[in-house]
Amino acid sequence: MIYLDHQATTPLAPEAKEAMLPWLSGPEAMGFANPHSMHKPGRAAAAAVEVAREQVAALLPKGGRVTFTSGATEAINQAILAVPRGNIAFSAIEHSAVVNAALASGADVQELPVSAEGLVDPEVEIDDGTGLVAVMQVNNEIGTIQPVARLAERAHEVGALFLCDAVQGAGKIAPPAGADLIALTAHKLYGPKGIGALWVRDGVAVAPLIHGGGQESGLRSGTLSPALCAGFGAAAALAKVRMDADFQHLSGLASLARSILSRWGLNGSEISRWPGNLSLHLEGLNFPRLMSDCREIAFSAGSACGSGTGAPSRVLTAIGLEARQARSSIRLGFGRYTTREEVEEACRAIEIAAVAQGV
Ligand code: PLP
Repeated sequence: MIYLDHQATTPLAPEAKEAMLPWLSGPEAMGFANPHSMHKPGRAAAAAVEVAREQVAALLPKGGRVTFTSGATEAINQAILAVPRGNIAFSAIEHSAVVNAALASGADVQELPVSAEGLVDPEVEIDDGTGLVAVMQVNNEIGTIQPVARLAERAHEVGALFLCDAVQGAGKIAPPAGADLIALTAHKLYGPKGIGALWVRDGVAVAPLIHGGGQESGLRSGTLSPALCAGFGAAAALAKVRMDADFQHLSGLASLARSILSRWGLNGSEISRWPGNLSLHLEGLNFPRLMSDCREIAFSAGSACGSGTGAPSRVLTAIGLEARQARSSIRLGFGRYTTREEVEEACRAIEIAAVAQGV
């Protein structure tokens, strides 16, 4: 099986797994202790959580605090629902966590259009009365990198806060400059599933979304998992060290894939893009048939969350693809451990299967 679905989730880095094991250990070592307990094993677990917090914070801008959450969906919900300040503007290609939290907030919403390149115009008109602007750093379906630094400035000009969903960019490219709130998740950067974080710039007031025992300085109640925190921290530390090498590796894989799938059209910007994500379309392609013919390749039609509904991807239609073109798109997601041989084998198999369909 060749895994090319790194936007859906990434494998756990061996280093992250190693870092988790002591906190999953059995009765004698007491790695299982509650990090909110005052006794010695509890304090040891709390110390591991704080090391992890520093490691995650090192991926983010200076001058803010990391609160651990169950993932990015929770972090985004907290940022949107617990910072009620007026209307919410978000890009037409945001993840459904942003869209649905904004709709659930009851605030008036404004959808910021994207170009055919899949980019928000940094000079886009933002409605008066907007309290929060949310634009993601890297799109999960087409890999486009948004001009978030300028959009954060624009948000501030109208007196709004700027939320950046950095799930697909964290640990891969430099953090979004100028953001007030940043959401990220461990399982997209070779860490474990079930943990993410909300970074809040110092001085920005956020109310808790989850109430209880007052953990995480009262911002997010509930017992933390030291194992998940340690895995997240180790994955973040590794990502920081490997950022350039990973980027080079993925750029090479993307070029290789494009040279084999040379007649397929690229969805989204050619230039402002994350190389680990290749979204391609081929007129007339029957995606379910392709998937069934290429059962030994784990790849996707659009986003993992949206697939299976039958509806054409919201992101692909937002960049101007007709429903039939959107339905004949594939997403190949490469990762740190993907080899050139795997990309070559997978792309050749995909091309052969497409030719067999007569497209
Ligand atoms: N935002 C983006 C861009 C994503 O790709 C995802 C995951 O699919 C999420 C948010 C949600 O993250 P999580 O799975 O940690 O809730």
